Amino acid sequence: MRRTAKSTGAARAGSDKRESRSGNPSRRAVASKPERSAAGLQPLGALPQAELAPGLYLVATPIGNLADITLRALAVLQGADRIFCEDTRVTGRLLARYGISTPLDTYHDHNSEQVRPTVLAALRRCERVALVSDAGTPLVSDPGYKLVRAALGEDLPVTAVPGPSAAVAGLILSGLSPDAFLFAGFLPPRQAARRRALGRWVEVQATLVFYETAPRLAESLGDMADVLGNRPAAVARELTKLYEEVRRGPLADLAARYRLLGPPRGEAVVVVGRPARTEPDEAEIDERLRTALIEVGVREAAARLAAETGLPRGKLYRRALAMRAGTG
Ligand code: SAM
Repeated sequence: MRRTAKSTGAARAGSDKRESRSGNPSRRAVASKPERSAAGLQPLGALPQAELAPGLYLVATPIGNLADITLRALAVLQGADRIFCEDTRVTGRLLARYGISTPLDTYHDHNSEQVRPTVLAALRRCERVALVSDAGTPLVSDPGYKLVRAALGEDLPVTAVPGPSAAVAGLILSGLSPDAFLFAGFLPPRQAARRRALGRWVEVQATLVFYETAPRLAESLGDMADVLGNRPAAVARELTKLYEEVRRGPLADLAARYRLLGPPRGEAVVVVGRPARTEPDEAEIDERLRTALIEVGVREAAARLAAETGLPRGKLYRRALAMRAGTG
C-alpha cells in the first residue's frame, strides 16, 4: 500500500547503474536533499547528506525508544525513493517523528511472494529502496532474507544500515557471557516441536538467545529447564521502553515466576547460559558466581552453583566471599 506521494528516483538514478554495483553504494557524496525538521529533534538538513546510490538498503529501526536510530538510517530513509515496511502505520509513526515523507509500501510475511518481483524490478531500474521491519533489524526473525538472496543473485547492490536488535540488547544485559553466543530466534509454538528444537542446542558451548512471546514465556522457560538443564538465564522485557526489566536466575525459577504471575506485558528475549561442563574451570566458576551475585547473596550464589555443578558448596562460598570483598 502506497501512503505518500513522492517523485520516483528512477530517472535521477538511471545513469548510476554500473558504478553502484561495486563497493558500498552509500559512500558517494553528491547533492543534498531539502531540509525537513521534526519538533524537538535535530533537523535532518543538519546531518551529513549524501545522495544515495541505487540499491537495496537494509535499515535497522528502534525496538522501542524512537531515539534509537542512527544518523545514517535517517539519511537513508529520507534519501530513498521508497521504503518497504511490514506495517505502514508503525513505520509511518517513525517517519513522522523525524519529518520524513518517503513513500511507504508493504513487504511482510503475507505478501512477500507477490511483492518481491516489484522490489527487484525497482532495483533493476536503479531505484534506491529501503527495507525496514516494525522494530529492530530486518531479516532477524523478520522478512527480507529471500529478497536479499534474490537481489544478490542478480548482482544488485545490497547495503546494511545497522542499528538496534533485541537479541543483542538482551544478550548484553543478561549478565551471561557474550564471548560466544547462538541466536536461535523463535521456538516452535507447540510443546513437542519446541522440545525437539531445544534438543538441538543442548551440546552447544555458547550462550543461547531466543525470542519469545509473552503468552508462551512460562511454558518455554519450563521446557528450557527440562531439556537444557537448570542453567542460569535472563528474561529481558520491554527493552529500551519505559518499563524495561531484566530478571536473572536459574531457568526453573524464572519459569515458576512467570507461571505464578501469568504472562508479562510486552515482548521478551530469553538468554540462557552455556552448559556446565562436568568440571567447570576456574574462569567459568567465577563468571557464574559473578552472574549469581548480581541477583542473590554469597550463600545463595554458592548453593546454586553447587547444585548445578556438584562442586563443594564450602569452596564456592569462600570463592564468592573473596569476589564480593574484591580480593578474588
Ligand atoms: N527484527 C527484530 C530485532 O532485530 O530485534 C526482531 C523481530 S521479532 C518479530 C520480535 C521479537 O523480538 C519479539 O517477540 C521479542 O522476542 C523481541 N523483541 C522485539 N523488541 C523487543 C523489546 N523492546 N524488548 C524485548 N524483546 C523485544
